[in-house]
Amino acid sequence: MNILLYNTLSKSKESFTPIENGKVGIYTCGPTVYNFAHVGNLRTYVFEDMLKRVFMYNGFKVRHVMNVTDVGHLTSDADDGEDKIAVGARREGRSVWDIARFYEKAFFEDADKLNIIGPDIKCRATEHIKDMINLIERIEKNGFTYISGGNLYFDIEKFKDYGKLSGLSVSDLKAGARVEVDTNKRNPRDFVLWFTRSKHGNQDMQWESPWGKGFPGWHIECSAMSIKYLGDRIDVHCGGIDHINVHHTNEIAQSEAATGKKWVNFWLHGEFLIMDKEKMSKSAGEFTTLKTLEDRGYEPLDFRYLCLGAHYRTQLAFSYGALESAGKGLKNLTRRIAELKNLPVSATYEQRKNIYREKFISFINDDLNIPKALALLWDLLRDEDMSSADRLELACEFDSVLGLGLKNSAVKEIAVPEDVTVLIKRRTEARAAKNWDEADRLRDKIREKGFKIEDTPAGQKVVEL
Ligand SMILES: [Zn+2]
Repeated sequence: MNILLYNTLSKSKESFTPIENGKVGIYTCGPTVYNFAHVGNLRTYVFEDMLKRVFMYNGFKVRHVMNVTDVGHLTSDADDGEDKIAVGARREGRSVWDIARFYEKAFFEDADKLNIIGPDIKCRATEHIKDMINLIERIEKNGFTYISGGNLYFDIEKFKDYGKLSGLSVSDLKAGARVEVDTNKRNPRDFVLWFTRSKHGNQDMQWESPWGKGFPGWHIECSAMSIKYLGDRIDVHCGGIDHINVHHTNEIAQSEAATGKKWVNFWLHGEFLIMDKEKMSKSAGEFTTLKTLEDRGYEPLDFRYLCLGAHYRTQLAFSYGALESAGKGLKNLTRRIAELKNLPVSATYEQRKNIYREKFISFINDDLNIPKALALLWDLLRDEDMSSADRLELACEFDSVLGLGLKNSAVKEIAVPEDVTVLIKRRTEARAAKNWDEADRLRDKIREKGFKIEDTPAGQKVVEL
């Protein structure tokens, strides 16, 4: 099956070919565990989950590695500021270890609620310090580093093609670099591989190293852990587009400087979730988490459904209105599935099923066109020429990619207020007496109270409007 994916490296859609037949190695940059994940981050993880599910649907055996950053990620991605975990610890008056473990757990709980399939290997930075040191030694041996002011830096001038992912030349990148505060750097885009006491001497998390006691730079963990668990070459690496210019560019430089080989074949990046035209980030003030949405009465999967409605390479405008509509859409979808379960089983038509299946595959394999796949699911559910059993079976099959939990969907018992129950009873009596005018009048009254009566083959049903 041909899968087309937009590769940030080539800036074009390319046909996916795995390094090893039938298998895909995926590395996704994980959370920095110093606070709850905001919904903008969660959109990226939903996109990566879709990607993984598309590979699985196509029959690939997926090996997915995700890191957990519990040390070394400074408040700026470009080595400025303080360690984020230390900031979190001070904010909450707890130890750095407490903070890291607490928010790691919270992150994976959020991911679970969003039906995100967990990684096969979840690796913490603090548990791979030795691997990082080993990799840095290889980079150093190959001549890509220098020591300045006690820190070990990566010298980007030594790495030809430094700008290959961003599409920017080294001079463009130099010009675009923020006003540099670290005077130890030869080039503003050089980055730290290992910090020693010269910076953040009071850092709680420190380890012995050939360059002195200290802690790793942020980028090295992803290179070290992906090479450890996926080998020198990997099929797919992804993350948010904000990682292209610094983090992923530096990951490539480090990995390829160490191994001398092309590291990643496909780079995929998810676009931002935007709120009030601003990129949603913790520094921008607005800090919306999954819990914020739950506290407002939304289900986590309402958010997943919202994400599925926009292609991963387009910005998604977040608003509570949009989330409300997504929630309603998902509720209707769940209801239709549950109704299908109640309908009598009739003949199945393999040919018709295959037409849907082929269309579905053509959409998901075209650089993850999930919005189209979702529209197809709706067409399928409305297709009266298909038997209920066929529709149900295919919908559940498609959901192995969409991850909306449709298999388990059932019509939830809704709380019907006492006065509405009385009206429903009177309407049933009016219909039994063939008093249609009265039945219609009562139907309107029930509507005014926010409920609707539907007459289905499985009997009468009350639906919330
Ligand atoms: Zn990373």
